[in-house]
Amino acid sequence: MHDINLEDLPLRDDLRGRSPYGAPMIDVPVTINVNENTHPMPDEVVQAITREVASVATTLNRYPDREFQVLREELARYLGHGLTPENIWAANGSNEILQQLFQVFGGPGRSVMSFVPTYSMYPLLASGTNTEFIAGVRDEDFTLSAESAVQQIEDHRPEIVVLCSPNNPTGTGLELETIEAIYEGMMRHRGITIVDEAYAEFAQDHKKTALRLLPQRPHLVITRTMSKAFALAGARLGYFAAAPAITDAVRLVRLPYHLSAVTQATAVAALRHRQQLLANVDDIRRQRDRIVRELKAMGLTPAVSDSNFVFFGGLADQQAAWKHLLDDGVLVRDNGIQGHLRVTAGTEEETTAFLTSLKRYLQTSAS
Ligand SMILES: *Cc1c(COP(=O)(O)O)cnc(C)c1O
Repeated sequence: MHDINLEDLPLRDDLRGRSPYGAPMIDVPVTINVNENTHPMPDEVVQAITREVASVATTLNRYPDREFQVLREELARYLGHGLTPENIWAANGSNEILQQLFQVFGGPGRSVMSFVPTYSMYPLLASGTNTEFIAGVRDEDFTLSAESAVQQIEDHRPEIVVLCSPNNPTGTGLELETIEAIYEGMMRHRGITIVDEAYAEFAQDHKKTALRLLPQRPHLVITRTMSKAFALAGARLGYFAAAPAITDAVRLVRLPYHLSAVTQATAVAALRHRQQLLANVDDIRRQRDRIVRELKAMGLTPAVSDSNFVFFGGLADQQAAWKHLLDDGVLVRDNGIQGHLRVTAGTEEETTAFLTSLKRYLQTSAS
């Protein structure tokens, strides 16, 4: 093989010097760095998925249902709020959902705005679709007020705004009034408002979902995923709810048959067994609340969390703390924010391993 460097390839100019998404993948006993659901998959659900996949295996010589009608029916039923299959779209993870939306509503000469720190994939998806990324700012404590957001939108007039609620990495959800005000701000120039609700099922208040704002708001898109609460990160299934015209719009850019029959079968089986799957959500919320409580007792400053992770500050040197935890076999996330780390609420044992290791770190680093 001839060795050739990336720089030697005829790359698109706007991709030169970029880095791919890169949360470290390190094989350690306690992996709580990418907000997966770490609870074991209930046996009954494993059986159901296996049966459903086996039944489509005989048809894999054919292309799958391009419109994934059954899956859209199940997703609409799950979301409620009067939604029908015409309001629903799905793809291989909500990352692909966002990519399709950026392809349709962004592109060369257009921009997408989000408010940092936020999900690190937004700028990467923007660059992949040749859309300018505008990094809006938050307040000192990482919150976002309607006044500030609307002013920034007014200043830049982006074609798309992405609101991550609850926000990753900080964990806190936006008030519906804030989302409404931002939507109105975007409508002044007919822009699209996307609310990324990847962690909606973990919210402190379930009534806070932006799905309630959908009626009468044709430029609003709410994205969800089965990667977190449904413990299905490996299956790659994300979806959105919006006006039917928005689903028609993404049909213009989706690859034909983009959702494999295996993916559709897996997601349908999981949705039909959602009661068993989502049973772990309550335990995860308990572990999350326990993390917040215990970090406070250690003198650290965890943010309010509506998600399955906790973002906390108060560390003198977050890189040293990250390394100490890793040496103890606990992998958490350093988002590069001074004095802060992010940890996923895992099982009770994983949470204990994290808290024990961090407590020991604080004791030794203080002495
Ligand atoms: C984890 C996460 C997703 C999920 O992405 P998938 O592609 O569905 O796995 C989306 N948005 C945010 C903010 C996330 O943290």
